[in-house]
Amino acid sequence: MVTVIQAYRFALDPTAGQQVALRSHCGAQRYAFNWGLARIKANLSQRAAEKTYDLPDDQLTPSLSWSAYNLRKDWNQAKNIVAAWWGENSKEAYSSGLANLATALGNWAGSTKGTRKGSRLGFPRFKGRRSGVSCRFTTGAFGLADDRRYVKLPRIGLVRTHESTRKLARHVERGTARIRSATVSYRAGRWFVSFSVEITRSDPAPARPRNAVGVDVGVKSLAVLSSGETIPNPRHLETALRELRRLQRQAARRVSPDRRTQRRPSARWRRTQARVARLHTAVANARRDCLHKLSTRLVRTHGTIVVEDLNVAGMMRNRRLARHIAGVGMAELRRQIEYKAQWAGVHVHVADRWYPSSKTCSGCGVVKAKLRLSERTFRCDECDLVCDRDLNAARNLAALVHRETSSPSCGATQNEPAGNPRKTRATRATGTATGRPAPTGTGQRRRRKATAA
Ligand SMILES: [Zn+2]
Repeated sequence: MVTVIQAYRFALDPTAGQQVALRSHCGAQRYAFNWGLARIKANLSQRAAEKTYDLPDDQLTPSLSWSAYNLRKDWNQAKNIVAAWWGENSKEAYSSGLANLATALGNWAGSTKGTRKGSRLGFPRFKGRRSGVSCRFTTGAFGLADDRRYVKLPRIGLVRTHESTRKLARHVERGTARIRSATVSYRAGRWFVSFSVEITRSDPAPARPRNAVGVDVGVKSLAVLSSGETIPNPRHLETALRELRRLQRQAARRVSPDRRTQRRPSARWRRTQARVARLHTAVANARRDCLHKLSTRLVRTHGTIVVEDLNVAGMMRNRRLARHIAGVGMAELRRQIEYKAQWAGVHVHVADRWYPSSKTCSGCGVVKAKLRLSERTFRCDECDLVCDRDLNAARNLAALVHRETSSPSCGATQNEPAGNPRKTRATRATGTATGRPAPTGTGQRRRRKATAA
């Protein structure tokens, strides 16, 4: 049993009136974000200008705090003047925009100082009307309705869901789940609600706990397992490319926006773009579904899964391979395997990035000096092993764990990868996302419970 933070996302079927209310809340979120950003920006440039006059630091305009708490306090003082209409939306809408702003500014500051991991981030930019439309509710009456076909949202009321909320409802009724926040968003022509849930899961143990499986992820086939099984690449993107090309030709014939001449796009161009977005969403959904089915099956069957540490970002830089690699979703498969393995207590072994899984013979262990990517069949020079290139690699991966963890006690070692969902989410839960100062003690208690489970 593990306690994790998990998201449950449902597509919504709002009425016309509810759609207006949803859009209004998301607009309010954007308004508060932009209002706060404008103030911070003005303050920063005022101070920068004053510094050029050689004013001493104590005579400068005082700097504004950009913590979510202070942003909210300032907003509450100013809202009657800057947004007299604020009462039309739940106060959560404005809080959510300001919390997003606090996170964005914090990320920028951390990135400039070098304390934040990942690529460099720029200063937050104003949100346009068509930027990611979303709004988060952290307090008030939100959750599931009793009949499993509706969700409750503050101010908006009961909104019908496109599918049953059964999966989450059962957990809530049993008392193994607690809904922490609800985020509504608009993506590719459809409204969604995503619940952030603290959930106690009890996943079944793998069917063959003593078995290790090597997984060679590739482009030709999605994955080859050391058991000899091949999971074909469904090529969802390739199937959609024909229609995508047609739509993009169509868009090219229509009036697109032009920044230099200030030309506004036509309604027909927007319509085509919406169709393109819908097609991309369909492809992404199909791909995700396929990866989920594979990763769940792997952790349900095998006690140990051996994967390669692939440099996916590096491979994406190869323009001949980029589309095919993106089309498979290699990094996503590894991410799914790692978090699901943790839930089920399955051991994940990540082979070293420089381990020559393809060049090694799985029969006698001799490493070849060179192996072209076009050579699809592995032929050993020493013994007479002839087998499929990917199957050879998968067998090498599986053998890796047998060699390194031959004692039975090692099989039970819990792997804690960098993307450990339990750890990162628990720290994120206390404060930053909601913009609320961490409630005293709860974070501590929660973490202790997670380790005990
Ligand atoms: Zn050999």
